[in-house]
Amino acid sequence: MFKVFVPDLKLDSIYDIKPELLSRKNIRLLLMDLDNTISPYSGSEPSESLTRWKEELLSAGVGLHIVSNTKTDRAKRFAGLWGVPYVDCAKKPFSDTIEKIIAKMGGKLEETALVGDQIFTDVWAANRAGILSIAVKPIELRNPLRRLRYWAELLFRAMAKKSI
Ligand SMILES: [Mg+2]
Repeated sequence: MFKVFVPDLKLDSIYDIKPELLSRKNIRLLLMDLDNTISPYSGSEPSESLTRWKEELLSAGVGLHIVSNTKTDRAKRFAGLWGVPYVDCAKKPFSDTIEKIIAKMGGKLEETALVGDQIFTDVWAANRAGILSIAVKPIELRNPLRRLRYWAELLFRAMAKKSI
């Protein structure tokens, strides 16, 4: 019943997503949440390490796409600087936007993963869409409400596998 909230895989951070890991699962398209997954809420520019990570995945033939719920112009700005396509106002946990991105990128459900920091938006949306769901720890948890939400997610995180 609660399986929709359980990630297929849990990792500490996006930097644990290596080309070899994705190729083991035949994943060729990686959708990425923005806030607290690839960038802290306070960050406005991609870091050098994030750009190196991106280049490593692109060199391995993995397609990348940002899918963010933000209603601000943050995703547009960040994606522009980073050189990665994006969609904002994605309305996760609904999966319609995810399905549209996969179609736009010419991907297949079974070859697509979504990585995000939130169970009740990112993981739920990925599981609804029928793609591989990867949960990472939020980059920062200074906001008390975000900390509370993280605690509420712990049971589902505990049920996830640590490797695939
Ligand atoms: Mg997030």
